[in-house]
Amino acid sequence: MLRDAVRSLAEAKIAPYAAAVDEEARFPREALDALTANDLHAVHVPEEYGGAGADALATVIVIEEVARVCASSSLIPAVNKLGSLPVILSGSEALKRKYMTPLAKGDGMFSYCLSEPDAGSDAAGMKTKAVRDGDAYVLNGVKRWITNAGESEFYTVMAVTDPTKRSKGISAFVVEKSDEGVSFGAPEKKLGIKGSPTREVYLDNVRIPADRMIGEEGTGFATAMKTLDHTRITIAAQALGIAQGALDYAKGYVTERKQFGKPIADFQGIQFMLADMAMKIEAARQLTYAAAAKSERGDADLTFQGAAAKCFASDVAMEVTTDAVQLLGGYGYTRDYPVERMMRDAKITQIYEGTNQVQRIVMARNLP
Ligand SMILES: Cc1cc2nc3c(=O)[nH]c(=O)nc-3n(C[C@H](O)[C@H](O)[C@H](O)COP(=O)(O)OP(=O)(O)OC[C@H]3O[C@@H](n4cnc5c(N)ncnc54)[C@H](O)[C@@H]3O)c2cc1C
Repeated sequence: MLRDAVRSLAEAKIAPYAAAVDEEARFPREALDALTANDLHAVHVPEEYGGAGADALATVIVIEEVARVCASSSLIPAVNKLGSLPVILSGSEALKRKYMTPLAKGDGMFSYCLSEPDAGSDAAGMKTKAVRDGDAYVLNGVKRWITNAGESEFYTVMAVTDPTKRSKGISAFVVEKSDEGVSFGAPEKKLGIKGSPTREVYLDNVRIPADRMIGEEGTGFATAMKTLDHTRITIAAQALGIAQGALDYAKGYVTERKQFGKPIADFQGIQFMLADMAMKIEAARQLTYAAAAKSERGDADLTFQGAAAKCFASDVAMEVTTDAVQLLGGYGYTRDYPVERMMRDAKITQIYEGTNQVQRIVMARNLP
């Protein structure tokens, strides 16, 4: 039922704008409005804070169905979970109430600020600092590649509180867009997910109350990594949705396009490609849903399974979207058809929330 409901909404209210959002590299406002009106913009927020209380699998299905028509728009529910999960996992009750309530209501999105210009895969090498000053912390630094920066009201920011302790000297904070000293860089000019703004976040002597710290001092990096264990599965879902969208489009096209006097779908070479695409997508789906169930239960092997789902599904998305372009021939290579956008959008799923090389490091360290 959930899938049917999200699919109808996505096809009616999000799909019609997907090409324009990409072409104009603009924020998918229509998608945000439609998702918020239907309580799908941050489905993971627990009911006690006014949220929909969706479990990890339901959240994955929402993201998958939105990504099937517009990958940029699927970053609304995905990044709302990424940005706010540190608060849900490790924040005080007061912090949860303060920030989950407006998120659930649609009064402000949440972003996640871990990466920096010189700290990507090695996120613990970050330089942003938070220095205690009375009952406040003062933050200084630059966060890079922040999804929905400028659009979000709330930002989970990881910063160094004790430079002698590396990852154990990092703490997490909630920073608000309206805090004095917060500003944003120009939107990055990207290959894909062009509708999803990616900007630098500048923190210039941002003074915030000490109770905005998420959990204890020095636990921020552990919270950030624990968050990724759960949210990598949402990237797998995004990849899955992009791949399914490309297969669905190509499947229709091959029955219409005629060469050598018959639909190209009649050629076995085409049928085998479609069979392989569907097989890979189904394998990715099973891995992703199983990982979502593990996320919900908090299983001990979640770290491996989340990394495996993200890595596998994103590789599948890249292969399937590339094949979809191939199935449309020259037409697939143009912006008159959606598959080239899907191919460009798929690429990011192999890079963010840890590159697929990093996923392999994570898996190797947590072999089942
Ligand atoms: C569109 C977009 C949105 C993003 N959104 C966010 C966000 O909202 N919040 C956020 O915090 N970050 C975000 N990121 C950052 C993203 O997570 C990083 O780009 C990613 O983790 C890689 O870091 P890097 O770009 O510095 O690459 P690098 O770490 O410099 O890696 C370069 C290459 O080296 C490889 N590599 C690095 N170390 C190793 C190793 N030990 N072994 C093998 N290979 C290695 C990498 O896999 C990669 O191929 C986003 C990025 C993009 C492009």
